[in-house]
Order: sequence, then C-alpha cells, then structure tokens
Amino acid sequence: MSETIVKQEKENLLEIIDLKTYYPIKGGFFRHTVGYVKAVDNISFAIKNGETLGLVGESGCGKSTTGRTILRLLDATDGKIIFDGEDITKLRGKSLREIRKDIQMVFQDPYASLNPMQMVGSIVAEPIMNFSNKSLKSLQGEVMELLKKVGLPEDAFYKYAHEFSGGQRQRIGIARALALRPKLIIADEPVSALDVSVQSQVLNLLKELQDEFDLTFLFIAHDLSVVKHMSDRIGVMYLGNIVEIADKEHIYDEPLHPYTQALISAIPVPDPRKKNQRIVLEGDIPSPANPPKGCPFHPRCPKAMVECSLTKPALKEVKQGHRVACHLY
Ligand code: SF4
Repeated sequence: MSETIVKQEKENLLEIIDLKTYYPIKGGFFRHTVGYVKAVDNISFAIKNGETLGLVGESGCGKSTTGRTILRLLDATDGKIIFDGEDITKLRGKSLREIRKDIQMVFQDPYASLNPMQMVGSIVAEPIMNFSNKSLKSLQGEVMELLKKVGLPEDAFYKYAHEFSGGQRQRIGIARALALRPKLIIADEPVSALDVSVQSQVLNLLKELQDEFDLTFLFIAHDLSVVKHMSDRIGVMYLGNIVEIADKEHIYDEPLHPYTQALISAIPVPDPRKKNQRIVLEGDIPSPANPPKGCPFHPRCPKAMVECSLTKPALKEVKQGHRVACHLY
C-alpha cells in the first residue's frame, strides 16, 4: 500500500476491545451475588471517523447495553473503550464529564426522553448550559439555528414538547444531541417508535446531519432493513456476542452466519418474484443469565453440528474485513 493511501485512511474514533458488561444477580437471605446476566460478553469492534456502524439483533441481545456502556451510563465489567485515542473505560468525575461532550445519544422513545412540560428551547439548550455559564436568552440564536437544521420552525423554541408529533419530538432530541457538537452519536433505535411514513424522513435527516456536522454514528436497531440505509458496516449481535461484522454490502449480499441469514430472509422485498425463502427460527433467544454452552446460537441454528454444542466459535476474519463466529467457516 502506498504512503499516500495510508495517510488517507481514516482513523478509528472508537475502539471496543474485549468488552464485557455483566449485571449481578442477587439472591438468598444476604442478597449475595449468585450469578451474572452476561448482557455483553466479550465483544470487539472499531468505528472510523465519519463512519456509521449499525449494530443489529433481537431485543435482549445486548446492543443497547453496548451503547450505554460506551456512553459510560453503565460500568464495563471488563475490557476497554478507547475513544479518540484515550482509554475512557474507567474515567470518573470531571474527565468523564468532558468526554460526555463528545459522545451523545439519541434515544428510542421521543415521548419518554423529552420532558413534555419543558419549553423546546430549554430542552435543546440544556446540554450547553450544563457545560457553561450561558443563559437560555444568550443561547436563543444558536438554538433556533439548530432547530432549523433539524427541520423545525424557529418558533418551536417557545413551544412545549407535548405540542409536537413523534417525528418532530425525535427532531428535538436530535437537536439536543447536536447542541454540544459531539464527535460520536449513539442512536439507540431512533426510529422504531415512529410511524413507518416518518421513519425515512428522520433517517434522511440523520444522514444529512452526518455530513454537515462531521459525525460518526453507532446506529442500534433490531431490524436490518432500517440500518441498511444508514450504515457503512454492520455488526450482528446475538446473546451478548457479535456473531458477524462486515461491510454493508457483504452482510446483505453474502451473509455467512446462519443467524444473519435468517435476519436477511425476514426483510420484506418490494418485488414478490424476488422473494427469498424465509428462514424461520425455532424457539426463543435463551436467557443471558444462563447462555448455552458452545455456540450461543446452537439451540436455534438450522445448521448446528455436534461440535457447535461443545465449543464456542471465535469471531474470525474469513474475508478482508468480514468476520464471522461460526464453525462452518
Ligand atoms: Fe450454527 Fe454451529 Fe455456526 Fe453456531 S457454530 S452458527 S450452531 S453452524
């Protein structure tokens, strides 16, 4: 590779190394720890500056816990979170506050995440006011500019969150997330609570803002069809593990892991003649408090072999940039 190409390669903004987030299970008279819910169980991935990584999987697979651990709303049990070259895994106090300027979250439910009785101007200005001595009045122009950028009228500043629709409330949540000009936005199912007709408008807005504000995204969703539009690369999670991660094109055109194949087969296609054979998975996702031995997917996998119930497959690179955790490869 020539030196010029090396220089042009983007750097990692975020690196997750062997991350584990376990919740203790308390039991007995003295409330001792009797076990752990392994919500995130040893995952590693990186996101480059300006890139969007989609993190997909069924409810309870650990994707939201991953996002909250990166944001340091939850403590990691083990592993490292490297953000912009700095190990932020154990930061506390002032240093952690400083990092929070650079990592913001857009939440799933725009109804629950915004105070309906708070004026929109104050909701959007709040993060800036938390980090400065500026008054709401002095921030009015800046906040109105942000409201315009997310497609809301300037006079939204004086209205209350309850006066807006779900899609508009999510725009308010996005404006608030942008207020501190973060480098990374963790979007946790940002459109799943919205009507289908509104979802694509919000996704398009996030795309536009990514270019304008030079943003990097971790985009969490339970649905592969939602992340397709947004993501450069996609990681598929199952029971606290990343089972496959690759460029978007490889995940959609050449999924290797049987779980990814099942998720892809469930995506509705507009042309019924091109319809894939739907792979229906039997059974429910097992409890992360008691994950199966061997491959975590083996009780539901249509291709399981004897080895699968004995040995956990490592996530290994099978093609350039395409990693999969399955004994078939
Ligand atoms: Fe299925 Fe075995 Fe591959 Fe797991 S390792 S996904 S059980 S084939």
